[in-house]
Amino acid sequence: MAISEERQNAMDKKANQIMSVVLPLVEAAGMGLATYVVVYRICLNALIQPIPKYTNHGFEPRRATGIGLLVVYLLLLVVFCITFLRLLQVIWTNPGVTPLGEPSSEKSTASTKHYDRLDAYICDYQGWPLWCDKCHSFKPDRTHHSKQLGRCVRRMDHYCPYAGGIISETTHKFFVQFLFYGFLYTGFTLIVVAYFLAERHRVLHSAPGTWVVAVALAGLFFLFTFGMFATTFYNLSINQTTVEVMQRDFVHQVALRGGNLNPPNTTSDQSVVLCEVSRSPTRSYIVVQTELGTGLWDLGPLANIRSIMGDSLIEWFVPLRMSPCLHHRDHSGEFPWGRKVVRLMEEHGAGTSYRRTRRRSGGAHAA
Ligand SMILES: [Zn+2]
Repeated sequence: MAISEERQNAMDKKANQIMSVVLPLVEAAGMGLATYVVVYRICLNALIQPIPKYTNHGFEPRRATGIGLLVVYLLLLVVFCITFLRLLQVIWTNPGVTPLGEPSSEKSTASTKHYDRLDAYICDYQGWPLWCDKCHSFKPDRTHHSKQLGRCVRRMDHYCPYAGGIISETTHKFFVQFLFYGFLYTGFTLIVVAYFLAERHRVLHSAPGTWVVAVALAGLFFLFTFGMFATTFYNLSINQTTVEVMQRDFVHQVALRGGNLNPPNTTSDQSVVLCEVSRSPTRSYIVVQTELGTGLWDLGPLANIRSIMGDSLIEWFVPLRMSPCLHHRDHSGEFPWGRKVVRLMEEHGAGTSYRRTRRRSGGAHAA
C-alpha cells in the first residue's frame, strides 16, 4: 500500500529529528575516545610518565612534549565544545523560523504591510511576495520552507543533522565557527595520534584498536569539517546560501517600488519588465524579471562576511554575538541589496534613490 506524501513527510521529519540528536551524541562519543587516547594513553602513559611497556624499550620521559600536547589538545577541545554547545543552544531556542499564518489565510487577503516599507522584494509574476501554502504566510526574501522542521526558515542554508539542526540566519555564524574549530581540533588530533601510533607500531610492534579507531574518526571528521568549512566560507564571501547556490540558474522576479515602466536608458543586463502593480493608492511597483540570481545580495567579499560573522575580528572568532544581518535595518530590502539590484533600481528610477532624485529636481512622485 502506497504511503501518502503527508505521512512520508512526517516520517522523514521524525527521522531527521532523531538523527540530529543521535549524530551529535556519536560525535561526543568520538571526542571522548580521542580524549582518552590523546590525554591518557599518549600524553600520560607514553610521554609524561612512561609505563613499563615504554621504559622497557628504552623510552625516557618526554615531559615537555607531553605537557605541550596536553595543553594544546585541551584548549582546542574546550573551544570546540563551547562553539558546538552555542550552536546547539541557538538551533534549539532560536532557529529563525517565521510566524505561522492562520490556516484560513490566503495570499490575496493576507497583509502585505511588512513589504510596504521596502523599496524592493522578491515576488511572483503578479508582484505578490512569495507565499508558503504550508505555513499560510508570505515568505520574506531568502526564506525557504524546511521540510525537516515543517516551517519556513529565514535565510535558510540547509538542514545539518551533524550540527544538530537547521542552518539559518540565526545559526549560520555559529555553524561556520563550529566547522573552523572542528577542523582545527580534528586535524590536531589526527596528527598527534597518527604520529604516536606509527612510533608505537615501529618500536613496540603493536597498534591498539582504540588508537586506530581514533585516527580513522579524526581523519573522517577532519575531511568533513575542512571541506564543509571551505565551501561554507566561500558561499559566505559571495553572500549566497546553499539553497541559492542550487538555484543559481533560476529566474527571479523583483518588485521595485515606484519604478518606471519605460526607463529612458536601457538596462545593461537581461532584465525584463513584466508588469506594474498597485499595492495601495500611494504604493506602486514594477515587476522586473532578472537572471541576477547569483548576485542579488552580493555586497563585496568583506561586507558579505561581516554581515554574518560580525563587524570585528573578535566577533568572527568568539561564539557570542548574533549576526548583524538579523537587525534588518535597511529599508531598501529584507537584506541590503547588492550592486546589481541597486543599479537596476537606479535604471528604473525605483526606490529611495529615485525619490531623492525626484525630490531634488522638484518632480512629483506618488511613492
Ligand atoms: Zn513554510
